[in-house]
Amino acid sequence: MWLRYGIDQDKTLVPIEDVPRGKTQLRCPYCEGELTAKKGRRNEHHFAHTHETCRQVNRSDRLLPTLPLYDNFNIWLTGKEFQQLKDLWNRYGIKDKGIPVKEVPSILIREKLLERNTYRYGGEYQFTKLGKIPVGALSLMLFNQVQEPMLLEKLQQLEKNVQVAYLEDSPNFNECLRDLQIYHAEFRKILSNTLYYLQIDTSGGNSIYKIGVTRRDIEARVAEIKNDLASHFENVSIKVLGTWPHRGNIEKYFKYRYSFFHISIGNLTEYYNFFTPEEAKTVLRDLRRMQLKGLSKIEVDILEGNPSWIEQLIAEQEKASRRSDAIKTGMERAKNWGQHVGRPSVSESPEEFLAKPSSQKVIAALNEGLSLRKAAEKADVAINTVRKVKASLNKN
Ligand SMILES: [Zn+2]
Repeated sequence: MWLRYGIDQDKTLVPIEDVPRGKTQLRCPYCEGELTAKKGRRNEHHFAHTHETCRQVNRSDRLLPTLPLYDNFNIWLTGKEFQQLKDLWNRYGIKDKGIPVKEVPSILIREKLLERNTYRYGGEYQFTKLGKIPVGALSLMLFNQVQEPMLLEKLQQLEKNVQVAYLEDSPNFNECLRDLQIYHAEFRKILSNTLYYLQIDTSGGNSIYKIGVTRRDIEARVAEIKNDLASHFENVSIKVLGTWPHRGNIEKYFKYRYSFFHISIGNLTEYYNFFTPEEAKTVLRDLRRMQLKGLSKIEVDILEGNPSWIEQLIAEQEKASRRSDAIKTGMERAKNWGQHVGRPSVSESPEEFLAKPSSQKVIAALNEGLSLRKAAEKADVAINTVRKVKASLNKN
């Protein structure tokens, strides 16, 4: 249900948005099984295995590389636990009253949704910021404060999993690496999106509101929306009440928090109708109190699509080991062709020459299939050195 990426022939992730519905040429990032793109009306668009779903995709939700608090706001609670939380909110939280200890299920403390506060009068327990999210009671500004560290913490955990799997040469390495890459892609998506909020005045004198995200120019998006609405209203005027760059993370929580006011216009969703102008103002204030999203160095890297440090480190290590393989190959070839290998001599032996760091760089460049000139550039040596390395490798 959740798989939103396949891999192409180059093993690059391709998001569901980029393919038409039906059978695809793409493969599962985990098991390389064939994928079908499911893009219906009812469910969120996703890839399904054409044949059997693999173990990795069938993992429990909590183990999947999903963004914390992006589209799951019941925070892993069972239906019953979620109901208990809602009851406590209605009886105590909403009135800002302390919750008596005997009414507090321990799971809600373990999940950090409720916390102890001995200064409270009445009951000793209260809702944490995190605990207010499943009941949609946390402001958008505070939601960001809770979610942002969780996003980074999970990123670090996934990076660590890759590092450990690599060092231990674990059979899970590919799974860990794919988890990290998918997480990166999802993270990138929310950072590259701009949240927008619109007021739409219809000819009947009503105001409705729309939340959404876009990666394009807001004017282009507004023109499109105007077009969508043309078949439902005679005349609409659209006012952009705000845009928030890099705040794609907020869209789904907004919908969750204000689901009570949600309306559908034909097939169009993401529209809201508030009963009074005061309510509409409160919602706008909630949005406007969000601080501008500043990007950390890590977030800039994610936004630019750079691989994570651990992926870069592994790529370097792999290159280095290929390089030492190339030296071995060179030495073996030299041996086969009757050269003296490993024997000290006054002049530089082929293996000494090939073992020099500059020669190693050349070998690595040649192994990448680069031309003499390009290899010289890459290894920062004269083209004659490249010729000499080639000759040493090919001596007969
Ligand atoms: Zn699979």
